Amino acid sequence: MVDFHILTLFPDMVMQGLHTSILGRAVDRGDIAIEAVNIRDFTTDKHGKVDDYTYGGGAGMLMQAQPVFDACQSVIDRIGQDRRRRVIYVTPQGKPFHQAMAKELSMEEELIFLCGHYEGIDERVLEEIVTDEVSLGDYVLTGGELAAMVMVDAIARLVPGVLHNEESAETESFGDGLLEYPQYSRPEIWHGKRVPEILLSGDHAKVDAWRLEQALLRTKERRPDLYEKYMEAHDLYNQRG
Ligand code: SAM
Repeated sequence: MVDFHILTLFPDMVMQGLHTSILGRAVDRGDIAIEAVNIRDFTTDKHGKVDDYTYGGGAGMLMQAQPVFDACQSVIDRIGQDRRRRVIYVTPQGKPFHQAMAKELSMEEELIFLCGHYEGIDERVLEEIVTDEVSLGDYVLTGGELAAMVMVDAIARLVPGVLHNEESAETESFGDGLLEYPQYSRPEIWHGKRVPEILLSGDHAKVDAWRLEQALLRTKERRPDLYEKYMEAHDLYNQRG
């Protein structure tokens, strides 16, 4: 069971995106919990302001330390002391997010995501509360909400019970270091294209061997970096020549 807390200026956006389909049902069953905390609710500014100009000049506004700190503290105060927690600032300056990181985070108990906006967040509060800085990729978004939603989705589906057929997360792309093999559904022939004969054979060993071969081929072609890592890790260069 993982509790996700998302500190944001746009709670509706986050909740609408995450409380649907598989994750929505997982929340309803109690396999995970997701809440959005509105940072603006914690400002002490009488006009409800949460941002101000940056010292030293330059374009754009910066989220101030006080409301971010108090919003985060309000979550920490509600979490039991014995619960394992991480506070993740989503930022283009963080470590790139990947499946192994999602797996590791899915074993935590409390994950607090901090979403920046405008030019970002006052560095002093980041120094005090953040345990991890994570990036969605080498590009700049207008806010952290989409990044946090992507990460919550990828992490939540690895929490036991969220995907009913647990096997599906293991055989998927990156689960074993390879991209997944191609898949087919009914009908057997569509637009003149046949489903590969072996998948209709009922011979599970042959199907598994074909799938591994396809996964290797696909990974070699599309992600040579992953292919190399896989081959080295499994000592397959020597075996295959
Ligand atoms: N001034 C910041 C910089 O140059 O690093 C970018 C600020 S960005 C416009 C506003 C917010 O969007 C950030 O505080 C962060 O929370 C979020 N964000 C933008 N790009 C992101 C990315 N690639 N990954 C994760 N979060 C991102």
